[in-house]
Amino acid sequence: MKAIVPMFKRRLARMTTAPPSTILLRLDWIEALQAPGCALCRLAQQKSLRYVDTLLQEAVTDVAQRDAWRAARGLCHSHAWMAVTIPHSAGCLALLYADVLGHDLAPLASLTATSPAPPRWRTRRALGQRLRDWLRSWEAPPACLVCGLWTEQERLYLQVLLDDWQEPELAQAFTAAHGLCWRHTQRLVGCGLSHRHIQAVLTAQAAHMQTLQQDLQEFIRKQDYRFASEAYGREADVWRRAVTFYVREPGAAGSESVY
Ligand SMILES: [Zn+2]
Ligand SMILES: [Zn+2]
Repeated sequence: MKAIVPMFKRRLARMTTAPPSTILLRLDWIEALQAPGCALCRLAQQKSLRYVDTLLQEAVTDVAQRDAWRAARGLCHSHAWMAVTIPHSAGCLALLYADVLGHDLAPLASLTATSPAPPRWRTRRALGQRLRDWLRSWEAPPACLVCGLWTEQERLYLQVLLDDWQEPELAQAFTAAHGLCWRHTQRLVGCGLSHRHIQAVLTAQAAHMQTLQQDLQEFIRKQDYRFASEAYGREADVWRRAVTFYVREPGAAGSESVY
């Protein structure tokens, strides 16, 4: 089974990210930075949706990929609900989850079967042990396939942000945008511990966080009855932006293992 997952990943990655040119990744950055919010969260959602769509189609028809789907018991919470939003996904989801459920029902059948033989206390102890074994088999479930793919892709995006920081278009777009969310700030630092541009990128990110703090302070000031007559400006929605900075928009999905 272990060999199947990397094979699946290679195949899906080829279909969804080819060619993995850093120029294309940089262009993705610049485009994503045009919209409000964390650009990497936006990319996570866009790319994950493509991964999920491809995975649904492939896992239905390809035996190896169906095995990988079953081993992972489908997708994580975010990506499973993302799959539900994909048009015409109902048939694929029904087939794939029927496969998973069939696989999960088999051990339950042996656990629920009654054995007539030995004294009750011994039967109960044996059953207890088998139930514990069953529970233990759930302790380390395989990671969501889409989460795994995006985690790798996200590292590439952060690497491009760091490597290409001296490209004026990228740095200017980042500076003019809204910066990264807190989780992706941490990921940036994790990816760039000894990178020559980490300090410059982090400085630009810190400036976005300072702007957020200034907007929060201004919003708080206007909550005071003495200034209640003042009209709200840019800070009007800052309370929401602050929530989004620390946790993603409701329903947004990228990678559960990363967030
Ligand atoms: Zn983010
Ligand atoms: Zn996932």
